[in-house]
Amino acid sequence: MSIDVEDYFHVAALAQVIRPDQWGDLPSRVERNTEQLLALFERHNVRATFFVLGWVAERYPGLVRKLAQGGHEIASHGYSHQLIYNQTPEVFREETQRAKALLEDQVQRPVRGYRAASYSITRQSLWALDILAELGFTWDSSIFPIHHDRYGIPGSPTAPYTLETPAGHQLQEFPLTTAKLFGVTIPAAGGGYFRQFPYPLFRFLFHRASDHGRKPQMFYLHPWEIDPGQPRYNNASWFSRFRHYTNLDKCESRLERLLTDFRFGTVSDSYTDYQRQQPEASPDQRVRLA
Ligand SMILES: [Zn+2]
Repeated sequence: MSIDVEDYFHVAALAQVIRPDQWGDLPSRVERNTEQLLALFERHNVRATFFVLGWVAERYPGLVRKLAQGGHEIASHGYSHQLIYNQTPEVFREETQRAKALLEDQVQRPVRGYRAASYSITRQSLWALDILAELGFTWDSSIFPIHHDRYGIPGSPTAPYTLETPAGHQLQEFPLTTAKLFGVTIPAAGGGYFRQFPYPLFRFLFHRASDHGRKPQMFYLHPWEIDPGQPRYNNASWFSRFRHYTNLDKCESRLERLLTDFRFGTVSDSYTDYQRQQPEASPDQRVRLA
């Protein structure tokens, strides 16, 4: 179970109508929405991994500490929520290091996991994996093995794997969940797909992706996805509004159903379980993406 802790105005789908220099003046809803998720997880006795955006951590240090005190795993969602393939390696390195240090200072323990804004580690930005390893990250969950207009590395592995970065470092990679249906690869990891598909279809695909319980799935959601009261941007494109606003009012109750239909844990705990179940898998097997 993973949550990308960011506000409704950070989202790439609304980037055409909200500039980063306006973020500080907009009414923030991330703290209360994240606390609502926290309460939900407590009721279901679920520990999750929270990928916290540096911009949010800087403004809400108490929130990050509260998540850590609740037994949840803290990981990084970078600092500025810009698409990595539009950044220079220098800017990416500087702000990712800053975001990591910020979280480590708040929770007083090393932060080892990373997820890119909008899954923007693609074939154009594989260099970012070297920088992540050099900054001390040991695992990543930024690669979606699908075709999409903004992200994805089609054909990359669909179960957790050891990735060899272009410069020869190692990272453990946790791909976002996909399922095959009639030979077509369908994203079944959460977010907009979770809100737009009818729940029984999502549940079917999510279950199918586990290959009869043999591999762990990666689910993700954002705090704003359970907030139908957030400000609406009617000047965004029709497609962006569809992606962002569909079924916000149904999302929390669907999440409750999902939490009772499947067993969830943090990324690190789920991986430990997976390794225990897969003793025959060779730890030396590495995947090089190109
Ligand atoms: Zn994000």
